[in-house]
Amino acid sequence: MEEYAKSIHDPYFQPKTEVSMVTGHSLASRVWVPGPVIVGAGPSGLAAAASLKNQGIPVLILEKTNCIASLWQNKTYDRLCLHLPKQFCQLPFMPFPKDFPTYPSKQQFLAYLEAYAKNFDLNPVFNTTVVKAEYDGGCGLWRVQTKVTEYVCRWLVVATGENAEEVVPKIEGMNEFSGPILHSSSYKSGDCFENMNVLVVGCGNSGMEVCLDLCNYNACPSLVVRDSLHVLPQEMLGRSTFGLSMWLLKWFPVRVVDRLLLLASHFLIGDTNRLGLNRPKLGPLELKNVSGKTPVLDVGTLEKIRSGGIKVYPGIKRLACNTVEFVDGRMEKFEAIILATGYRSNVTTWLKDTNLFSKNDGFPTKPFPEGWKGDCGLYAIGFTKRGLLGTSMDAAKIAEDIACQWNTDTKHFKPLRHLPA
Ligand SMILES: Cc1cc2nc3c(=O)[nH]c(=O)nc-3n(C[C@H](O)[C@H](O)[C@H](O)COP(=O)(O)OP(=O)(O)OC[C@H]3O[C@@H](n4cnc5c(N)ncnc54)[C@H](O)[C@@H]3O)c2cc1C
Repeated sequence: MEEYAKSIHDPYFQPKTEVSMVTGHSLASRVWVPGPVIVGAGPSGLAAAASLKNQGIPVLILEKTNCIASLWQNKTYDRLCLHLPKQFCQLPFMPFPKDFPTYPSKQQFLAYLEAYAKNFDLNPVFNTTVVKAEYDGGCGLWRVQTKVTEYVCRWLVVATGENAEEVVPKIEGMNEFSGPILHSSSYKSGDCFENMNVLVVGCGNSGMEVCLDLCNYNACPSLVVRDSLHVLPQEMLGRSTFGLSMWLLKWFPVRVVDRLLLLASHFLIGDTNRLGLNRPKLGPLELKNVSGKTPVLDVGTLEKIRSGGIKVYPGIKRLACNTVEFVDGRMEKFEAIILATGYRSNVTTWLKDTNLFSKNDGFPTKPFPEGWKGDCGLYAIGFTKRGLLGTSMDAAKIAEDIACQWNTDTKHFKPLRHLPA
């Protein structure tokens, strides 16, 4: 500990070659970072970085992959557009270009993020996975470890996202199924599924849209709907359903807004229960608040279900060579399965001993809007289950909070420097 403290405060101090507590390999270097270390260069990491830089605070962003917004670059399908209107998805200080449509395409969103990073001169360190981060109470600093470097800093901002790892359910007979089984994160388009019977498991926004895409490529998709869900039209009365909900919430309590939304939905898209999509007992906004479950915004899938282009099935009992047996006893032949079964946080795999994040699911333990700040300079951004709007809210609070400490305590810190290993 003494060596460690010396190495932080004395630039001429030569510590013995250090062995990573994580990998067992020698650490090539230890780096003192005067400002916050941000883990993840998705929209949240970029938003946090821009907001901090706007306060005059230098940041270091560590990113596992070789690009910004890797989720959007590598793990999304071609036809994806933002589900919410652009004004609810913009990052701090930079609106979307005026000539972008209300729901920018994935390519437009990525172009916006590239421009955002350039505008704020954000230069993440790519191909750098944080394998462990731990608060060192002895010196009151965070030790953030990658395979080769230990970064030492006072503030740690976790921006690794709600979608860090794919959730792949275990289904009986999975190994026996003869066709491909892929997660929706690997699905690009229905191009290679033409004329195939494809089973899509999971009916969130992704599952519903993958089905629609498959229809457009002349595949025959079926959808597994295990739980109840709310489907709402993407727009109502010429306004986005999301925008309308936000506006109504200014005037009415959540239950009243839910009633209005359900009434309008019934009028516009009919009774979804009749299509095998049963509505939960709680209304869409109340359910979102209680469980984080997002209502599906329909972009045309319901029409295909109604016309028989997409069949709906209940949960899967087991798979066999080329058949799927459902819990209601039906058996059907399928040639491919796409798992639109969502994602999980990876925070618990690398962040040690904090009470900001739950050990169970890697999400903040405190409910929204309290989950952005932990103890000892730890922050979370992008874990609100409220998409990019939640990200912007977190970014503002984090930047303000760190700025208060930065301005009072750390004026004397020098810029980032490499310490000898
Ligand atoms: C298909 C899809 C559509 C969506 N559409 C919308 C929408 O329309 N509107 C909206 O508001 N939200 C939408 N979302 C929600 C989505 O979560 C956000 O858009 C956004 O990507 C979240 O940004 P993030 O930076 O928090 O997480 P991510 O985009 O997941 O970025 C996290 C980054 O952290 C990196 N990382 C992870 N672990 C480590 C590690 N150990 N070390 C270093 N780096 C690491 C990852 O490589 C990644 O680049 C959508 C999500 C999906 C999956």
